[in-house]
Amino acid sequence: MPVARILFPMPLPEPFDYLIPDGMTVEPGSYVRAPLGKYERTGVVWDIVEADPERELKLVADVFPTPPMPESMRRFIAFCAKYNVAGPGQVLAMALRSRGGLSPSPTQTVYALTGHRTNRMTAAREKVLDAAAEVGKASASGLAKEAGVSSSVIKGLVETGSLQAEIIETDLPFAAPDPERAGPTLTSEQAQAGQRLRDAVKAGGYQPFLLDGITGSGKTEVYFEAISETLRKDPTAQVLVLLPEIALTQAVFERFETRFGAGPAPWHSSLSDQQRRRTWRETAHGRARIVTGARSALFLPYSNLKLIIVDEEHDSSFKQEDGVRYHARDMAVMRAKLEGATVILASATPALETVVNAEAGRYERLKLSARPGAARLPDMSLVDLQSNTPEKGQWLSPVLEKALVETFEKKEQSLLFLNRRGYAPLVICKACGERLKSPGTESWLTEHRYTNRLVCHLTAWSMPKPDNCPMCGAKDSLMGVGPGVERVAEEVRVLLPDAHVEIFSSDTAMGGEATRGIVERMAEGEIDVLVGTQIVAKGHNFPNLTLVGVVDADSGLQGGDLRAGERTYQLLSQVAGRAGRAERPGRALIQTYQPYNPAMQALAAGDRDGFLKIERDVREELTLPPFGRMAAMVLSAPDAAMAKDIGLLAGKAAPNGEGVTVYGPAPAPISILRGRHRLRFLITAPREVDLSAYMATWLKALKLPNAARVAVDIDPYSFL
Ligand code: ADP
Repeated sequence: MPVARILFPMPLPEPFDYLIPDGMTVEPGSYVRAPLGKYERTGVVWDIVEADPERELKLVADVFPTPPMPESMRRFIAFCAKYNVAGPGQVLAMALRSRGGLSPSPTQTVYALTGHRTNRMTAAREKVLDAAAEVGKASASGLAKEAGVSSSVIKGLVETGSLQAEIIETDLPFAAPDPERAGPTLTSEQAQAGQRLRDAVKAGGYQPFLLDGITGSGKTEVYFEAISETLRKDPTAQVLVLLPEIALTQAVFERFETRFGAGPAPWHSSLSDQQRRRTWRETAHGRARIVTGARSALFLPYSNLKLIIVDEEHDSSFKQEDGVRYHARDMAVMRAKLEGATVILASATPALETVVNAEAGRYERLKLSARPGAARLPDMSLVDLQSNTPEKGQWLSPVLEKALVETFEKKEQSLLFLNRRGYAPLVICKACGERLKSPGTESWLTEHRYTNRLVCHLTAWSMPKPDNCPMCGAKDSLMGVGPGVERVAEEVRVLLPDAHVEIFSSDTAMGGEATRGIVERMAEGEIDVLVGTQIVAKGHNFPNLTLVGVVDADSGLQGGDLRAGERTYQLLSQVAGRAGRAERPGRALIQTYQPYNPAMQALAAGDRDGFLKIERDVREELTLPPFGRMAAMVLSAPDAAMAKDIGLLAGKAAPNGEGVTVYGPAPAPISILRGRHRLRFLITAPREVDLSAYMATWLKALKLPNAARVAVDIDPYSFL
């Protein structure tokens, strides 16, 4: 009897062996059930080997009617685990996010009119027949609700032959996209880039591209060309478009629908269980041809993935910061390599890592340098806050105020950007000087006026704003310090009392419905001034928006983060790029106390490549990523004494590695989080060193008390 080696989606070190019963068809990649401990569990057959007659093994219990996970995907899971220092079972768990998708679609009984009218009609029956004529096929409860009658009326109508029951699947396949539909007439540089991508897809095999185009230059239209070619070339080929979660809006789905006549299969955190299992199942069976999703969509079990697009590839949301810590852009390139697929990284402000790869010839760079038609990039200027200081307690400089007034008078729209939610980022007591913190966490509380609460943005802990200081008890002594979007909006309302001002942040736009509402009101010109956090930076086109004001350009530059300058540059140029998307010229005013900072200078001059060169030189000099490797290890313990002990233990356990430097342990910048005391090591090494293997060896050598926790992060993006 052959033996199936089954990997379970759990933190176990390796697959377990089971005998395959006679008559059961199991192959590598099959999704199966098998007994593990007290329960039967779902897993994936990793391998099939010959049985050793000496060993007593349990039997595989069942096989799912799902096409086996392709070998390329299994190799990808193994790679991802090794690179990111995680167990393969933990990575497999990300691929098995929807167990419902393994079974065929559930079914439902629906009722439809037969055309036969019974002569025993009642008022209630009449209502049901009217409702059925109106809504078509519907469940008994749905039809009864629509008609405002009880379900027994439906039953009666089935008995008399006026309604007919039919069993249908609840999870319908996605409509097939049509690759033959034409897009807009491309400009010559768009057409050239599009043709290059089509040729690459036609040729097949692993081909990585950087699609480097300014905001609004038509990157989406260009990668649609690659999608259309992929769908056309191979009727089973699948396409994955990864987007930052925040950009996965209805508007994006509609663009796909317009171009391909059918919307893509969605995958993101706010899907219902049913939507999730539908996308999972349709992807595994190869029927979902285009999937659009957030980073975790990379782990769906595509049967024939031939094109991956990472849009806004520089976006930090592609980095997963808990569980298996991975960077979806980097993993996407690896996945494309294993699948023999084309991969396109698209951005107006590509990450330095990506630019260096393009310069080294590892990626082919396609450039788009102009906006089509009359649209052009806004004029950018810096507002030096040293000489253009806002009035005390205010945040808008006289220059920005004047621009806001002019724009409003011209009946055009403005956008003010400030990456701080709430009213004030810090609350202090005027009497005792206490800065209010979240309990058990070294993080300040933010004042929110709309809800009149103090909120911790790190842990989401909140409390009603107290009348008295919790430390000294002084009455009415708590004062919000610094600006948040609510406070800036308040300032604009005083400046422009007749303007319609709205706030766009994750507090005001909770869920797709609210976001769509704000975006629609802005697009239709109902809003005069929109004050928003980074949620406004992504992908929206507002034709009448001509002024973008950046309230506090310096806030992103603080902190010991190696990418602080790069991230500030990316975010601000993306925000500024919101203006002047259509015929009207736009301008961006950037308020800063550091007008001579290289990021600010480059931004004002529109000199992205100059900026990247400075960043590149600094990183090369210090052998920081991408010129060297970096990893982080964060340890935590329930009290300070244990934290100190495990820090010492971990330091002693660090193996010797050629060229590897270990810094720490040092208290992590957030030294206490949810009551846990945190320590951090940073590890650097030259590029040739396999830092993943080094970290894995270190982890194995670590013997920590049960209450301690450890997390390894390869290529860390967050330094908290
Ligand atoms: P990007 O992804 O580079 O920011 P988009 O693809 O979103 O740019 O294009 C910006 C806007 O310009 C979109 O509304 C798009 O439909 C439009 N657009 C781009 N290229 C063309 C073209 N060749 N003809 C007409 N409209 C275009």
